[in-house]
Amino acid sequence: MEKQQFKAESQRLLDLMINSIYTHREIFLREIISNASDAIDKLAYTALTDDKVGISRDQFAITITADENNRTLTVSDNGIGMSKEDMEENLGTIAKSGSLGFKQAMEKQEDIDIIGQFGVGFYSAFMVASSITVISKKYGEDKAWKWVSDGADGYTIEETTKDAPGTDIIMTLKDDTEEDKYSEYLEEYEIRALVRKYSDYIRYPIKMEVSRSRKAEDSEEYETYKELETLNSMVPIWQRAKKDVTEEEYETFYRDKFFDYNKPLRTIHSSAEGSVSFKALMYVPSKAPYDFYTKDFKHGLQLYSAGVMIMENCEDLLPEHFRFVRGIVDSQDLSLNISREMLQHNRQLTIIARNIEKKIKSELKNMLENDREKYEEFYAAFGRQLKYGTVAEYGAHKDSCKDLLLFYSHKQGKLVSLKEYVEAMAEGQEKIYYVPGENKDRLAKLPQVEALSKKGYDVLLFTEDVDEFIPQTLMNYMEKSFCNASSEDLGLQTEEEKKEAEEKAEAMKGFLTFVQESLGEQVKEVKLSSNLGSHPVCMTPEAGMSFEMEKYMKKANPEFAFSVGRILELNPDHEAVQAMQKAMTEDPLKAKDYAQLLCCQAQLMAELPLEDPYAYTELVCRLMK
Ligand code: ADP
Repeated sequence: MEKQQFKAESQRLLDLMINSIYTHREIFLREIISNASDAIDKLAYTALTDDKVGISRDQFAITITADENNRTLTVSDNGIGMSKEDMEENLGTIAKSGSLGFKQAMEKQEDIDIIGQFGVGFYSAFMVASSITVISKKYGEDKAWKWVSDGADGYTIEETTKDAPGTDIIMTLKDDTEEDKYSEYLEEYEIRALVRKYSDYIRYPIKMEVSRSRKAEDSEEYETYKELETLNSMVPIWQRAKKDVTEEEYETFYRDKFFDYNKPLRTIHSSAEGSVSFKALMYVPSKAPYDFYTKDFKHGLQLYSAGVMIMENCEDLLPEHFRFVRGIVDSQDLSLNISREMLQHNRQLTIIARNIEKKIKSELKNMLENDREKYEEFYAAFGRQLKYGTVAEYGAHKDSCKDLLLFYSHKQGKLVSLKEYVEAMAEGQEKIYYVPGENKDRLAKLPQVEALSKKGYDVLLFTEDVDEFIPQTLMNYMEKSFCNASSEDLGLQTEEEKKEAEEKAEAMKGFLTFVQESLGEQVKEVKLSSNLGSHPVCMTPEAGMSFEMEKYMKKANPEFAFSVGRILELNPDHEAVQAMQKAMTEDPLKAKDYAQLLCCQAQLMAELPLEDPYAYTELVCRLMK
C-alpha cells in the first residue's frame, strides 16, 4: 500500500514536536480523551433528532485499555466516528482549528513548552507512541477504516471491519530508555492519575479495566479479578461548587477550551436559580485575539443543555459590547432539540442573556473599583470595544458601558472613569471638558486646555476615533453636560465679560472683515476669543462638528467625506494680532500676508494639513526678506 504524505506544514510541526525536549508529554492522554469526548458530543447531538442512533445517553463511554504484552494503550469511544475522508482531512493535517495559534507561536520560536500550552491534539500522541493505529466507523456509514502511521513518514488508510460506530486510537508506546519510561503509561495508577488530573470533568465515563482482589469463596486464598472502573467524576467544572475548584483548574480549562495560552484576567463562575436556572463559566481574556476587531472573530458563548453542547458560539447569549468574554452556559431549562432559529426567539435564552450581561458588567465594575491595575490591562485590550458598544445602535447599550469607560485625564496624568472625573471636579466647574485630537502631548498644549487648566479644571484628552462620539451619545454624565473645549463655548465668562467682549468685537468689526476677506474661502468666520492665553490664534470647527470627524470620515468612508467649516479665532491682546491690525492701515498687502500666516499656524495647531505647503513656504520667505 502506498504511503500518503502529511501535508507539508504538518510534517514540519510534527518533526519539531516529536523532537522537542518535552516535559509535559503526559498531556497526550488528555488530548486523545478530549477528542473522544467531542466525538461523543457529536453523536449525542445527532441522537436528539435522529432516533436511528439507538444509543441512550448513559451508554456513551470512553474506554481505556492497556495491553502490557503488546505495549499498546487504546482509547476507544462510541462517538460519531470518522469516514475515510474525515481521516484524510483531520489526521493528515495538523494546521487545523486550535493548532493555528500553536503554529504562530512555533514560528516565533517563543517557548519550547508551547505544546503543553496549546495542546495540538491528536498529534501529541506521537510524543509517546512510535506508531498509532486509528480504527473508525462513522455513524451512518457501512464501511470502517484503519489509519496507520509511525509519525515520521506519512500514513496509510485501508478498509477494515468494526461493528459499531466509534473510534479506537491504538498507541504503540515507544521503547523505554534510560531517561524515559514510556511503559509507565500502561500502569493503572498512572492512567488513573492522569485522567483525574486532566480529564476529570469530561462528561462521559472514562472506563478502565482494573484488577481487584477478593477472598475466594470457601478458601483463605485471595483471587484477582477484573472490573471496569469509571475514573473520572464526570462533573463538569462549571457544575462544581466554586469553592471546590482551584485557580489552576479554572485556568487549565480555559486554555484547553479556548486555545488561549495567556492566563485569563478574570474568571466569572456564576449560577442562577429562578424562572430559568443555569450555570455559567466565563472568562475575560488578558489579550485581544489578533482578529478580535475584524468580522472573522467568532463571538458568543458555548451553549449546553444538561451537559450536551448544543451550540458552539451562541451569539444571542452575549451582547456585542462584551464580545471579548469567552465561556460556556449550561441550562437544563432549554429544550434539547431546539433549532437555531427557535433559539433566537427563546424566552429562556433572553432571560439568561440579560442575566449574563448584568453579571459581566458588575464583575468588570468590581475589577475597576478594586483591582485597578488589572482593569487597566483589560482596558488596554478591550476598552475600544466598550467604546464602540457605547455608541453602537444610537446608544442602545450605553447604560451597560458608560461606567466602564476610561479616558486620559490631563490634570491627573492618568486614566480616569467619568465618575472619577466628575467627583474630582473643581469648585465652580459645571461641565465635563474634553478635546479630541491625535496626540496627547499636542492636545495638552492647546490654548483652550491651557485656559481651563489655569482655572484648575480637568480636561479629558480624546485620542481614539470613537471617543468623540461618546459625549454625543451620552449627552451628560451624572447630570454634567459635556463640552468640546476645542470648539464650544467654554462657559468661563461672566455676563459682564461677555458684554465687554461683544463691545470689543463690534469695535474691531472692520479688522475682522478685512481678515475674513483676505482669507476668502479658507475660513467660514473670523472672530475674537478671550480664551487664547499666550497664543495668537486658533482654529475651531463650526458648531456641532469636529475636525476629528472630518478626518475620520476621510479615512473610513471617503465616499461620504465632508469638510467642516473653519472658524479662525484671534487673540486681540496678542502682539502678532496687533501687528496685523496695525499693518492693515499702513501696508495692506503685508497685513494680508500676516493674516495668511496666522491662518496657517492655526491650521497646524489644530492638526489639520495645509492646503498648499509650497505657498506657505513662499509666504514665510517673502515676509523674512
Ligand atoms: P482538534 O481536536 O483541535 O480539532 P486534533 O488534531 O486533536 O485537533 O483532531 C483533529 C480532528 O480529528 C478532530 O477535530 C476530529 O474531527 C477528528 N478526530 C480526532 N479524534 C477523533 C475521534 N476519536 N473520533 C472522531 N473524530 C476524531
